[in-house]
Amino acid sequence: MPEQSPTSAPTPNGKTAMIIGAGPAGLMAAERLAGEGYAVTLYEGMPSAGRKFLMAGKSGLNITHSEDLETFLTRYGASRERLEPHLRKFGPAQIRDWCAGLGIETFVGSSGRVFPTTMKASPLLRAWLKRLDGLGCKIHYRHYWTGWNDADQAVFKTPDGETTATADITVLALGGGSWKRLGSDGKWMDILQNAGIKCTPFKPANCGFDVNWTDHLIDKCAGQPVKPVTLTCGTQTVRGEFVISKTGIEGSAVYAISATLRDQWLETGDATLTLDLAPDRTLEDVTTRLTKPRGKNSMGNHLRKSLGLDATKTALIFEVTSRETLNDPTKLATAIKSLPLKITKPRPIDEAISTAGGVAWEELDKTFQLIKRPGTYCLGEMVDWEAPTGGYLLSASLTH
Ligand SMILES: Cc1cc2nc3c(=O)[nH]c(=O)nc-3n(C[C@H](O)[C@H](O)[C@H](O)COP(=O)(O)OP(=O)(O)OC[C@H]3O[C@@H](n4cnc5c(N)ncnc54)[C@H](O)[C@@H]3O)c2cc1C
Repeated sequence: MPEQSPTSAPTPNGKTAMIIGAGPAGLMAAERLAGEGYAVTLYEGMPSAGRKFLMAGKSGLNITHSEDLETFLTRYGASRERLEPHLRKFGPAQIRDWCAGLGIETFVGSSGRVFPTTMKASPLLRAWLKRLDGLGCKIHYRHYWTGWNDADQAVFKTPDGETTATADITVLALGGGSWKRLGSDGKWMDILQNAGIKCTPFKPANCGFDVNWTDHLIDKCAGQPVKPVTLTCGTQTVRGEFVISKTGIEGSAVYAISATLRDQWLETGDATLTLDLAPDRTLEDVTTRLTKPRGKNSMGNHLRKSLGLDATKTALIFEVTSRETLNDPTKLATAIKSLPLKITKPRPIDEAISTAGGVAWEELDKTFQLIKRPGTYCLGEMVDWEAPTGGYLLSASLTH
């Protein structure tokens, strides 16, 4: 990426670049390569660009995070080492400058997350496409890549039949395997595997989980938030809130712990989340308060008056604990501080905000180039990294 994002077509270098996939990763690759003088052509399977990016903007486009870079880098877990050099060159600070260069100011929300002031993705995407147009980038929509032919040309399915293309360099930016209706159907994985490129199977990331709720709990609590709460799985503990859904649990705190919970479920076929429904009180405090006689108060009133627990938390306690526990203040206090919630399975991959898995790191050199296909690069969510929500997904998709 040039120091300054170019705003007009630079001197051509006489070379061509083909970018397949017009999500954030592909569009950023187009900007960079056009800035280096390549004649850039983008190919996108859908009728328009950045559909998942636009969807991300529906609930407030969390484009990056403002925490210090060292902490930020830890969010990429095992992939940190491979992503770090890129994120140090084009990371949170550069993303904010880049947004500003497109006329989109950003602000830091109370949690440290960074959003455009407009919150939406559409003004940013519009300005970005205009810039790419100014740089001479061409975009062919409804061009769905189906692989390479015997002549090693890229083959596209279009409404007018099949077409082929070649270029000096190719960038694959085909996304992960969730929300297929937005274009990223993950079918590229078979194509690459058939070409001898190792890919790690997709797994849902930042996803909800199913719980065998009773009909009573669904009737009473579906759609209700549980907050504040801490969730523990193995050695990971997350504080925040989640939502009870008809099928189980979803929402920010669940997404934050979802990789650990998913992996436990994959390893053992079973996973349990431990909830602390009174995270601001010690076990002793909860026990003392529950030991006071409840008189004529119902259990719900008793929990509300003595601990401030709302109806949803109370319903959860009733759902998960036995009558014996409810009648024993010491056992009840322990249950409130560490309520075991059995998960049956992650929600289907297509519902996940992102996917783990993708092109294995060992197939890529330090510039994201496929070692077995020099001149072909893989960028964005299709590479085998995962990260929590918080702007980390787009940050890693935009880096290069
Ligand atoms: C509901 C939701 C909310 C989100 N919110 C946030 C958020 O606030 N912050 C954040 O950091 N992240 C968020 N994300 C995740 C983020 O949007 C993705 O990680 C990011 O879009 C990945 O960028 P990408 O360019 O790698 O892939 P994509 O955005 O998926 O783009 C890939 C492109 O490739 C095209 N394509 C795929 N296969 C083919 C083919 N065979 N031929 C031609 N074209 C093809 C697709 O149509 C698509 O346009 C959210 C995701 C969802 C679903």
